[in-house]
Amino acid sequence: MAAEVTIDMTKTFSGRAPIQAHLRYEIKASTVLILFGPSGSGKTTILRSVAGLEWPEEGRIQFLSRTWLDTKSGIRVSPQDRQIGYMPQDYALFPTYSVAGNIAYGLGALASEDRNKRVAEVVELFQLQGLEAAKPRELSGGQQQRVALARAVAPRPQLLLLDEPLSALDAPTRLQLRGELRSLLKQLALPSIIVTHDWSEALTLGDVMAVMGRGLVHQVGKPHEVFSRPANAEVARIVGVETVVQGEVIEQADGLSTVTVNGTKLKGLSSNAIGAPVYVCIRAEDVVVEPSGSGMTSARNHLLGRVTDIAPQGVMVQVTIDCGFLLTATITRGAVEDLCLVSGSSVIAAIKAGAVHLVPRSG
Ligand code: ADP
Ligand code: MG
Repeated sequence: MAAEVTIDMTKTFSGRAPIQAHLRYEIKASTVLILFGPSGSGKTTILRSVAGLEWPEEGRIQFLSRTWLDTKSGIRVSPQDRQIGYMPQDYALFPTYSVAGNIAYGLGALASEDRNKRVAEVVELFQLQGLEAAKPRELSGGQQQRVALARAVAPRPQLLLLDEPLSALDAPTRLQLRGELRSLLKQLALPSIIVTHDWSEALTLGDVMAVMGRGLVHQVGKPHEVFSRPANAEVARIVGVETVVQGEVIEQADGLSTVTVNGTKLKGLSSNAIGAPVYVCIRAEDVVVEPSGSGMTSARNHLLGRVTDIAPQGVMVQVTIDCGFLLTATITRGAVEDLCLVSGSSVIAAIKAGAVHLVPRSG
């Protein structure tokens, strides 16, 4: 039997629409499932149900060969017996415990010598040396995040559950810890489920992604495939990035990176090293479509392309342009008429460098 996780559940808070998930995915050593969606869509409820902190009124949750919940046969495994590392969104560190005390919290079953040894190991793994005796309030946001993660990982869980692990951090720290978290998860070879509403985190960290909106899972797939091929308009609206293609950084100058995508060069803002594999992410609303042969604008990128598809969507029209890769633009119906756009029209797609987002991906 393939190593699988099944989450099949319905949880209803009184007076609200039910939160439902029906998903099953295969896991390898360090597979990361991303639960992605806007605030209020039910991500935390599903994560807490997997942790055993929330009891769905109906469903089955299975991790590998172990059934944690099966309402039909009355199986309800307690959170303590699930061997899970759970990190809530606010970290919930114990304010009166030291860093070492927080990390040792889940190690009560060990003899004190083994416990101290494990705390020392984890302190080193998370680069918290020298902070063992500090209290949470004396730490920076990034350090608190590391302690919370260290506490979740210390008891050697089988599955790690992280609720918006980076959302409490300022932008530069978030960017740094995003990269560190990715290598750490690979190093620990520990499967995890990560909740986020940040698409760059989903792309960097995720192997599988479930898109949630208003209590329902709308699509499950590889993150870059879900972003570039949303199953329906609801998913497209939730993920909000229509073009996600693989590229490589070939040049860095003046704070701008030049990337190639299938031979087409684009400029974007990033600090990725030359040679770094990246996802090039562009929102359709950030693409300006101009007739080919028109004058220059302030946009850094002018890509010559051919229209391959024109799809009306309400008052707007989604235009797909082949410029070496398929690029999606959202423009008004009026613009389509003014430019006399038809399938096959030659156009220029203009994109400001600031709207070309480069997100690291593993090579
Ligand atoms: P997310 O993590 O995606 O922001 P949540 O799972 O926290 O979403 O919440 C989903 C919905 O369930 C929200 O409408 C929220 O108000 C409601 N909800 C969550 N927890 C409770 C609770 N303990 N009691 C009542 N309603 C709740
Ligand atoms: Mg939440």
